[in-house]
Amino acid sequence: MMYSVDEFRRRPTVAASFPLRFPNGAKWTEFRGRCCKCDVVFGVEDMRGDVVPVADDSYRTHDVQAFYIDALGYCEECELFTPFQYLLPDTMILVGVDTENRQLLIYDNRRRPWWKRARDWISML
Ligand SMILES: [Zn+2]
Repeated sequence: MMYSVDEFRRRPTVAASFPLRFPNGAKWTEFRGRCCKCDVVFGVEDMRGDVVPVADDSYRTHDVQAFYIDALGYCEECELFTPFQYLLPDTMILVGVDTENRQLLIYDNRRRPWWKRARDWISML
């Protein structure tokens, strides 16, 4: 996906699709990305592209189980696009590829269960 800056500005913002809600009650409230060169966090107007629902293939239900983000961030300072390709599923475990080292990224965004917090707290005593 390659754009001129003008074409990019005509694309929908990623933020316009948020929050992402799922039939199981899960919700992604926002998606923020950083410039691959200067590390600045992109504002709403500077992250644009597609947010595509990924549905269950069963014929009974067509529940959305994930959203696929295929977007670019544009940095005015660096005059550079940073690509973002991520899967945001209803399990709240984000999957993507790191743009710098091409490694698979997995980020667990679930709230940590109380027993884990309690265990960590106890281990500090
Ligand atoms: Zn930059």
